[in-house]
Amino acid sequence: MGIVNAISDEWKLIIKQSQQHICPPSNDKFQINIENAMVNVLKVTSKMLYNEFKRKKQTAPSAQKKIKLKYPNLSLEWKEIYSLPFTVTHDTKTREFQYKLLNNIVFTNEKLFRLKMIDSPLCAFCQTEVESPEHLFFHCNVTKSFWQLLCSWISEKKVISTSLTLENVIFGVFNVAEDFHILNHIILLAKYYIYNCKLNIIHPSLKVFIATVKATSQIEQKIAANSNKLVKHYKKWNKFLPCFSEFSLCFWDDVCRDLFIFTL
Ligand SMILES: [Zn+2]
Repeated sequence: MGIVNAISDEWKLIIKQSQQHICPPSNDKFQINIENAMVNVLKVTSKMLYNEFKRKKQTAPSAQKKIKLKYPNLSLEWKEIYSLPFTVTHDTKTREFQYKLLNNIVFTNEKLFRLKMIDSPLCAFCQTEVESPEHLFFHCNVTKSFWQLLCSWISEKKVISTSLTLENVIFGVFNVAEDFHILNHIILLAKYYIYNCKLNIIHPSLKVFIATVKATSQIEQKIAANSNKLVKHYKKWNKFLPCFSEFSLCFWDDVCRDLFIFTL
């Protein structure tokens, strides 16, 4: 709807009846500055106007400064980084977790120790290094072993051919086209899984993680069926569906307890 149509009939009547109402010359058009470009007012939509007001009010999250200091060579656009969880999954828990990670509000032991809530800042897994987000999600030897197993598993499915970098783990993988959705969704799920393992002081297990990925796939399948988007769903998950159907129930006793903890 154009901005003129958004004005109520009552207001239009007041404007027309007002003696101060001035009709612009027909060859002269009113223009509004939208995203640094002059746009004819008749072509401005309510959404464009709303976004322009929003843009003027918005301020960059303070966590961006800290991220820039930690990752001076980061070449990604913030818009890409923030929108990734909303693009690759419907899962609100992993979206929320990634939001916390990007805004530096994931409560690692380093942060809890600074707040005097625990006695040691050391990592829950290795107990040797300070548990920063970078250590917990990437540098820790326990986590590294898990990522190696995970990368081997997804490379068997021909989704990835190289190991993941720290930036890939924290922000996502952007330089892929074919498997962008599934790869980044699995990375988000893996980070959330690692964090839940840390909370329960158990080492991450690939078997348990595959079970959680399978459960997530089944939930997304139901959502896709209800919204008539099964084609899109199968396109995203097609490389993993044969593996999920083969996933043996003999692992179930192993994973059941940890899966229950993870989904709490
Ligand atoms: Zn560690």
